[in-house]
Amino acid sequence: MADLAARVQVVVPTPAHSSLGDPLTYASEEPLAPGSIVRVPLGRRQVCGVVWGEADESVDPPNLKPIAGVLGELPPLSPAWRQLVTFTANYYQRSLGEVALAALPPQLRELDAIQLARRLRRTAGEGTGPTDPPHALTSEQDAALAQIDAGRGPFLLFGATGSGKTEVYLQAVARLLAREPEAQALVLVPEINLTPQLQARFEARFGAAAVVAMHSGLTPPQRLRAWIAAHRGQARIVLGTRMAVLASLPTLRLIVVDEEHDPSYKQQEGARYSARDLAIYRGHAEAVTVVLGSATPSLESWQACRKGRYRQLDMALRVGEGRLPAVRLVDMQHQPKGALFSPPLLEAIRARIARGEQSLVFLNRRGYAPVLACNACDWKSECPHCSAFRVFHKIDRTLRCHHCGYTERVPRACPACGNVDIAPVGRGTERLEEQLAELLADAQRPDGTTARIARMDADTTRAKGELERQLAQVHAGDVDVLVGTQMVTKGHDFRRITLVAAVNPDTALFASDFRAPERLFALLMQAGGRAGRDAAQAEASEMWVQTWHPQHPLYAALRRHDFPAFAEAELKQREAAGMPPFAYQALLRAEARTQAAAQAFLAAAAAEAPALDPSGRVTVYAPVPMGVQRVANVERAQLLVESASRPALQAFLAAWQPLLQATRPAGLIRWAVDVDPLAI
Ligand code: ADP
Ligand code: ZN
Ligand code: ZN
Repeated sequence: MADLAARVQVVVPTPAHSSLGDPLTYASEEPLAPGSIVRVPLGRRQVCGVVWGEADESVDPPNLKPIAGVLGELPPLSPAWRQLVTFTANYYQRSLGEVALAALPPQLRELDAIQLARRLRRTAGEGTGPTDPPHALTSEQDAALAQIDAGRGPFLLFGATGSGKTEVYLQAVARLLAREPEAQALVLVPEINLTPQLQARFEARFGAAAVVAMHSGLTPPQRLRAWIAAHRGQARIVLGTRMAVLASLPTLRLIVVDEEHDPSYKQQEGARYSARDLAIYRGHAEAVTVVLGSATPSLESWQACRKGRYRQLDMALRVGEGRLPAVRLVDMQHQPKGALFSPPLLEAIRARIARGEQSLVFLNRRGYAPVLACNACDWKSECPHCSAFRVFHKIDRTLRCHHCGYTERVPRACPACGNVDIAPVGRGTERLEEQLAELLADAQRPDGTTARIARMDADTTRAKGELERQLAQVHAGDVDVLVGTQMVTKGHDFRRITLVAAVNPDTALFASDFRAPERLFALLMQAGGRAGRDAAQAEASEMWVQTWHPQHPLYAALRRHDFPAFAEAELKQREAAGMPPFAYQALLRAEARTQAAAQAFLAAAAAEAPALDPSGRVTVYAPVPMGVQRVANVERAQLLVESASRPALQAFLAAWQPLLQATRPAGLIRWAVDVDPLAI
């Protein structure tokens, strides 16, 4: 055994919460640095693993196997990276192996040393150099940058849409690289759709060679190349979606989280991490500057500023003196009954069309109508596999379940009673588009032609390249009225839009999810921010909200563009009710063949709780069915765990985990813990 003298501990991809989660011991010819990426046998397969440390030489586990190879051309992953992975796994109650391997690009997990060496020899081209010089800063930008330069933060850049936050990020990176040419910056965006335009701005400022993108829309070779460029310290700037927060960045000095309030930063499966929260952790652990940016910060971040944990940087003014659009509330009580579009809103859209300006109309529901119903009996378009209605899509005459995907052609007559009079109930974007086309059939553009109406949502943009094509059409002015879901409200820099309208946003005011008003306010502010981005048009820009509750305080704050007032009122309520950010939560979710089995698992878990929390600082609520209780014939239930103390909650979850693993009632399919859940 002399040639296999060393024992190393290796983390390997492991099922979520199996007891295999701990590193496994392998033999090696020579000691390997922790962080080395290796290939090891696991069962009958060979898998990629990461050396986590040296194993105790004295113990000789049975069946000790030698490692199969080392990807020696890659430097080992740093201690800081391993610490980040360890923290993520512990905090979000997942196995080390799952988190560590999921953070590596998929293709790296497949390659052996020889294949990797071949990849590494293929170097990317040089790309174009910088073309876009920095702007002269506004005084607000100047003040914000001075602070970012002077401290580590974390900073919350509270800046109106169009106040020049992106320019601040660009110049913060520029100053960093001027000080330290080998430094790296990580810039996170909430959605893939937003990466191309941001990438273009960073490449124009720093040259294409300095920038790499990391998101799930890349091909496996592209992802591997980007990851390697980051890991070897060659890429100066990494732009990415939430997954990029776990990238290996040996000389990381600055992290930017743009639109930090966006729910997309929370991973919804596997390790359910929040990339924003991990950015804060990483900034602290690696002593690097963190800048969170938003026009409507999360109440968690806002509260952290009030408590002095984050430093708030204000940029209230739009660049070029442009004003934020005037907010017009239409009281639907005083409009013709059943009207989808109020007459004054229609008039305003017509006026835009006549002037050659664009309008954007949004509704958060795709399809034609959420339900199809029989007028003679009580048949409705329920999904046979889910406790939900199938949505009527008129375009291809289908009923589609948005939960499980089950799709059928629309029946000619009621499947229950044979009545042919079955009708759509409610409305989605398809119906909105159809009705607008009718209502605006006689509206004329400046050149006398008829108005062009287009729709953009998950249905119209499914095919590759469609999103880009449709956005280009809007930018080129080939569309007068754009109808869509909230997809159209995010981040796109539409220059010609002077009117934005929310058709029916009220439902969020009374939703059971306590975060719904916070999301609605952010959505409306962000949507309004699409209007009047061209300062010359800003004066004429308007945000229209059709509502049955024009007196609601949320709308009052919206009219004044007053996020601080909204946040203060909302925080007061949260504090009184003991909800986040004044409490910390976790959800235990169970999926089973029957609702009874799902709830039995949760009830058994809850019964363990008192013994694990003798001081009584953690509250475990009763199991309840999920909002949509059954999806694809699987019954779902959940249980809320809450504490005013984050450490108490964490200690409880850690002690609970092994008990949950040991509980295996019949009928249970799977369970998962969601720490700091966003939807309850
Ligand atoms: P935000 O990210 O806050 O929405 P941006 O950084 O995208 O704002 O800025 C909005 C617009 O103003 C962009 O077109 C940008 O190029 C321009 N801009 C930003 N800062 C300046 C500046 N200091 N001088 C002139 N134009 C600027
Ligand atoms: Zn019927
Ligand atoms: Zn279904």
